[in-house]
Amino acid sequence: MKKLAYKERIAGRLTLVTSGIILVVFGIIYLVANYTVVSNIDRELGLETDKHKDQIFLVNGDIRFLHMDEWQEMEHSQIQLNPIFIEIVDLEGKSMDRSPNLRENHLSFSPEKSEQKEAVTLKIGASEVRQMQIPLFNEGKHEGYLLLAKSFEDSRELLNNLRNVLLILYPGILLSLFLTMRYLAGKSIEPIQEIIRKTNQITQSNLNERVPVAEPNDEIGQLTRSINELLERLESALNREKQFTSDASHELRTPLSVLRGTLEVLIRKPRTSEEYVEKIKASFASIDRMSATIDQLLALAREEKGKNLIKEELELITFLEEITDQSAKDLHRKISFRCESGVPVFVKANEKSLQMILSNLIQNAVKYSGTQSEILVKTGLQEGLPYIEICDEGMGISPEHLEKIFDPFFREKEVVDRSIAGTGLGLAIVKKLALESGIKISVSSKKGKGSVFRLDFPLS
Ligand code: ADP
Repeated sequence: MKKLAYKERIAGRLTLVTSGIILVVFGIIYLVANYTVVSNIDRELGLETDKHKDQIFLVNGDIRFLHMDEWQEMEHSQIQLNPIFIEIVDLEGKSMDRSPNLRENHLSFSPEKSEQKEAVTLKIGASEVRQMQIPLFNEGKHEGYLLLAKSFEDSRELLNNLRNVLLILYPGILLSLFLTMRYLAGKSIEPIQEIIRKTNQITQSNLNERVPVAEPNDEIGQLTRSINELLERLESALNREKQFTSDASHELRTPLSVLRGTLEVLIRKPRTSEEYVEKIKASFASIDRMSATIDQLLALAREEKGKNLIKEELELITFLEEITDQSAKDLHRKISFRCESGVPVFVKANEKSLQMILSNLIQNAVKYSGTQSEILVKTGLQEGLPYIEICDEGMGISPEHLEKIFDPFFREKEVVDRSIAGTGLGLAIVKKLALESGIKISVSSKKGKGSVFRLDFPLS
């Protein structure tokens, strides 16, 4: 089955709900009109009944009239606009007398209705009447019944007209309601169609384009903004990706060119064995640099997949003492450790990740500070949460670069100029690992004074 368009669905649902409401309203209108008309006739009938009951008597099977002249009057003999029909019957319902306007017809007597003064709708011949029936007594003796009826034809016509008008109006109203709502729904989703059209046009090649925001404050405006923000994020992710690829290629191409240059020089003419050894050593350095970059690129790529890190409980004081001792040995540098908590500090972390984070940070602290300056690894608890700080008194980082140092391949110019070895990938790896472990990493630094890298652990 063909799926209905949104505007048709919404118009259909609204029309369905409204059709129910209109049906109830029309029903109430008809019932109120019907009740009013019937109760008007019944009231009049009641008045007539009261009037005639005092004028007509049955005395031992004979009819007596209080005002005989009135009875013979035109009122009941002619066919009037809204005539009263009267019939007097005995206890068995046998007709004793009736008003001439009844002609050959009789009012119908029903014994079970005799006690209540209650009107019912009946038929006399082809026409409808409201009829009432009361018992007639003579000195306490029940002698017969007085039947009174009033034509219901006009009222019936009025009610039928009303019913017909409502029945014709009903589908008409529903149809126009459906069409209006469909039009309005179509109008109100026009901006969405525009968004769809524009979004469909945006591909990787024109990811810088945005969907125009028509009404900034409504939901459609919010939707447009959300789409634009998504595009923004996609665009910057894509740009980062491009930048990363170009940086990585560049980073590998440089040592490769150096290697090629060295080999070309070597092959040009025969060399002494010392020259060969020297050039080959230089080639090794280029190869080592490439290997280091590739290892770090692999580390960065590998961690991307390692979402399900196994975390275990670690006691930081013992863990950090071991790491600082080992790093001091490996890097031939004094590294101090201080614990600012009087109690053991427990964290839940992946040991390998934490080791990698700390060794990167400690290596940087060593690399970017003078051989005599102090390097301190600190741990403790702040507001019950464990932290680690790696402090150095080295060259520090410019405030404008504090955010960038975690980007892959970013290195401060000064570092490059001073030919300090490195790839610019260490902190990118650290950030990724920290993010995976839920550790918050922050840095504070003063140019020429030193830096503090801080790791804050979540509640374990
Ligand atoms: P690499 O050390 O290989 O250059 P990193 O990602 O570890 O790469 O660091 C990125 C840059 O951040 C470094 O090049 C350096 O400019 C700066 N940096 C990192 N750690 C320190 C530090 N302890 N002191 C001063 N600068 C630092």
